[in-house]
Amino acid sequence: MSTTQTQAATATPSSSNKRFESLALNPATLANLQQLGYLEMTPIQAASLPAALAGKDLIAQAETGSGKTAAFALALLERLNPRRFAVQALVLCPTRELADQVTIEIRRLARATDNIKVVTLCGGVALRGQRASLEQGAHIVVGTPGRVMDHLAREYLNLEALNTLVLDEADRMLDMGFFDDMATVAKQCPKERQTLLFSATYPEGIEKLAQQFMREPLRVQVAAQQTESLIEQRFYEVTRANRFEAVALLLNHFRPISTLAFCNTKQQCKDLVTYLQAQGFSALALYGELEQRERDQVLAQFSNRSASVLVATDVASRGLDITQLEAVINVDITPDPEVHVHRIGRTGRAGESGLALSLASMNEMGSVGKIEQYQKRESVWHKLDELKPTGQGPLLPPMVTLQILGGRKEKIRPGDVLGALTADAGYSREQIGKIVVTEFTTFVAVQRDIALAAMQKLNAGKVKGKSVKVRLL
Ligand code: ADP
Ligand code: MG
Repeated sequence: MSTTQTQAATATPSSSNKRFESLALNPATLANLQQLGYLEMTPIQAASLPAALAGKDLIAQAETGSGKTAAFALALLERLNPRRFAVQALVLCPTRELADQVTIEIRRLARATDNIKVVTLCGGVALRGQRASLEQGAHIVVGTPGRVMDHLAREYLNLEALNTLVLDEADRMLDMGFFDDMATVAKQCPKERQTLLFSATYPEGIEKLAQQFMREPLRVQVAAQQTESLIEQRFYEVTRANRFEAVALLLNHFRPISTLAFCNTKQQCKDLVTYLQAQGFSALALYGELEQRERDQVLAQFSNRSASVLVATDVASRGLDITQLEAVINVDITPDPEVHVHRIGRTGRAGESGLALSLASMNEMGSVGKIEQYQKRESVWHKLDELKPTGQGPLLPPMVTLQILGGRKEKIRPGDVLGALTADAGYSREQIGKIVVTEFTTFVAVQRDIALAAMQKLNAGKVKGKSVKVRLL
């Protein structure tokens, strides 16, 4: 377990103290924590609460289940004035389920103080009831960006007295295309406020959020526990002639649903993708010079599981956050051992097991040696001819991407697309995967067996009251 703080002068003794008593919390809250069985702080709580209670902006990253809710809830509760009948804290969450969970946890932590009102604002429920709850006086609002925006637009919700804005599960909100909605809400909050951002991963968009809405945020990160031991590392010796063939053998043998394959050069990426595609694999390349539009499309297809192999350079894969990645293949060994550890750490996230396969030719053995020294362990070698082809062809990805021509510019939101496919076209939520809305286009993943019909239904129907053009990628 390692805790890194990216700002100097913050490694105070209190940040390593696990006792809740070391914090400036009121005695009733401390007693309540005892009753809840919260005997000591989790690492992310210990790393973020001292700064959060001191009123600093914070970007906190830690894996799911690490106790992030209490890390912001205790801070916003401590600052709250229950006698002031106004919304003093707003927590934005990606989904209704998560908003409900956060509301429950806040109520649990708030029960030491009398009469703190928490109101949840999510879609799928009539606005009227929510409006009534707001009118009865809410101290804390927890909601999804779209519904919170609706209440702001109708002036049912007023944020003038807000002290604390929390973006919870910010990575998932970005994933779901809520950047603009978050921006709209943040603009309606007072400038003088504390902004707390919590996330399990650290995709590119987080920096953009930080630059636009936060003031000198402190960054705290708690690395996942023992991820490394969950990653199985295997090395294979290859020659220049059979390197690509070895990649195909590994893919056919292990059959991972999602594989990130690293090459040292852009040319190698392109060549490998050409080879894999010719062999029938669903593979895409990611390298520096792609236009933003192309990059968006590649990332959407890979992260929604409608392409099984992403072949990337190290630079291009920076900021890429894919939560479920069964395998990483080092097509070329990197000369930098730190990069190697970073590459393989992409698999085995959030306590899942992962497979890291490395191909090395004779002239890369020096780099392998450096990796061994850096990791303080010997590499485990396997033989390519132990890999038995399964007799089946290349794995077909479980999902297919539909591209809707139209995005944020047309005010399309993920919920609109989901509605068109579930309420209108009659599919179940489980048949629909990730929905990504970019500026001009929308990518929606659907299960392979319904792809063609879903495309036809969308083409014949309406999204947000308008006809749309849809194609299969
Ligand atoms: P995250 O948001 O990081 O995914 P949660 O905030 O949902 O995690 O917390 C996960 C679980 O851990 C919850 O059931 C919560 O009640 C519990 N929990 C949080 N903090 C503590 C603590 N200090 N001690 C014991 N349990 C805790
Ligand atoms: Mg959470």
